[in-house]
Parts: sequence; structure tokens; C-alpha cells
Amino acid sequence: VIAENRNVFAGAFVDRSGERRKDDDWLAAALDSDDSRFVPVWRKRCLVAGDPPGIALLTRRQLDRPVDEHELIFLGIFKDHPTFAFSVDGETPAYDKRGDFQELRYLGTVLPPDEANLAAHARALVGWHASQVYCGRCGSAARPAAAGNARQCVNEDCGNQVFPRVDPAIIVLVHDDDRCLLGRQASWPEGRYSTIAGFVEPGESLEDAVRREVYEETNVRVGRVSYHSSQPWPFPSALMLGFVAEATSTGIKLNDGELEDARWFTREELLAGACKLPFSISIARRLVDHWLGLAGRS
Ligand SMILES: [Zn+2]
Repeated sequence: VIAENRNVFAGAFVDRSGERRKDDDWLAAALDSDDSRFVPVWRKRCLVAGDPPGIALLTRRQLDRPVDEHELIFLGIFKDHPTFAFSVDGETPAYDKRGDFQELRYLGTVLPPDEANLAAHARALVGWHASQVYCGRCGSAARPAAAGNARQCVNEDCGNQVFPRVDPAIIVLVHDDDRCLLGRQASWPEGRYSTIAGFVEPGESLEDAVRREVYEETNVRVGRVSYHSSQPWPFPSALMLGFVAEATSTGIKLNDGELEDARWFTREELLAGACKLPFSISIARRLVDHWLGLAGRS
């Protein structure tokens, strides 16, 4: 039984209403309705207002300029409102009188779960469109399609269609009796350690990726692998797939040099603050808390 996913940014709070994405009449009516809500994204940041901050859900009348309907990304129905995201350009963003544009990593620590999920969804799609201006097959322009949930090459001889990208990455807490394996990258804040992570490669199962990444980064061999939970991590497009795994060897060697250090920590050491633990909103932290027996508090 997989428990309800309580990872920050996760949760099916938006009814994505996939059947509406090609319903032009419904979309036109929604864009013209005072009932619809609009989420601006500027430089990967979402607009928030209030204390504590809440995500700014603008009405049609609050839009500074008419947004080209092709630039609007239909996210779905959020709290009974058709909800769209759009990209805001410029050195000084429009709508800055209505609140502050804030980074998603910060917003994950302050927004309620449903708004954090909406913000992650909006940021991921706006960022994806910005990275797919041209067709990757023929080099012609590509334009948004399916209400911003796909892109289509304008060259009719090509007709290439692309869909939003999600990059699966495994993240794993490896344990050996009362010790767990954590590592750190040189660029991280001093003293911070985290669970082992890496992208899944073509032709790999998730279990294969867990075993390969742990071996490459630490030389540790892993036996049984169990799924824990997953987390959307749109920086820019990862999906973190969390696992717990049992070590079958314990000697550490930093094979691929990705980590600056890796060590075995006992529960006692972690609880006593032997290292700085991963960022509070990350699935890495939740995996560590789960192993420490603090799952109810994470
Ligand atoms: Zn093309």
C-alpha cells in the first residue's frame, strides 16, 4: 500500500481536464470568463501576495494587457476555476504592484500544498515552452498546441509534435543495519549531506538506475530496492523517484567523482546533528526522516 504522497509540490490538486485541451469553444468561453484565473510566471518565478504568501490568481480584468490566446497554457480546473499560466517578459515585470515574484524553492516552504502544486505545474510548463521555440527535427518554428500542453512544428511537411518533458531521476536512501549512506557535492553548503541521486538513463529500469548510481558515486553495492514516494522537481523538469535500498557491500570509493565525500552515518549521529540534513521541502529530507523514524513529523 502506497501512502498518500505528502511531498511538497506533489498532489493532484488541479483537475487537468485533458479533454478540454482541444475543445476550442470551451477554451474560448473560458478565456472570456470572469470565472477564470491566470497565473503569471516571470523568470521561473511565480507571483505571490499577502502574509502568509498566497499564489496570485488574477482575473481576466486584472491582466495588464490582453494575452495572446496561443500564449496561454491551460493548467486545468483549480478550485472550480479554469486556470491558465502565462509567461511575463521584461526587466521589470508587469504585475509587480500586485505582489512579488518568488522562487519556487522558497514558495515550497510557505505555500499551502495545493498552491505549491499549482506553482510547480505552471513553472514547469512555462519553462518548457521557452526551451522549445524551434522544432528539434527540422528547425522551423514550433507553436503551442493543445492549449499549451504540446507544441507543433509549423512546417506542414514536418508536422513534428512534442510534449512537455519530464526527466525521471532516482533518489535513494541506502542503509546497512543502523547506518545510512549520505554524500555531498563540493558546491553544497558546508556540512550538508544528502541521499544518493541521479537521472535514469535510456534502457534502464528504476531499480537498475538505483544500483548503477549508488555504485558509480560510492562503490557501494545494493540489494533489495523498495519504492517510497515521488516528487515533481521542476528545476527545470525532474521527477524525483524516491527509494530505500539495502546495502550488500559497505566500502566507499568515489568512483565517478560526482561527490566530494560520502559516509555512513548512524541514526544517533544524524539525530545529534553530525551533518546538515537536506533542504526541508526535498524528498531527500523525507527519506532521511522516514529512516530516522520521524516520518510523522516530516
Ligand atoms: Zn519540424
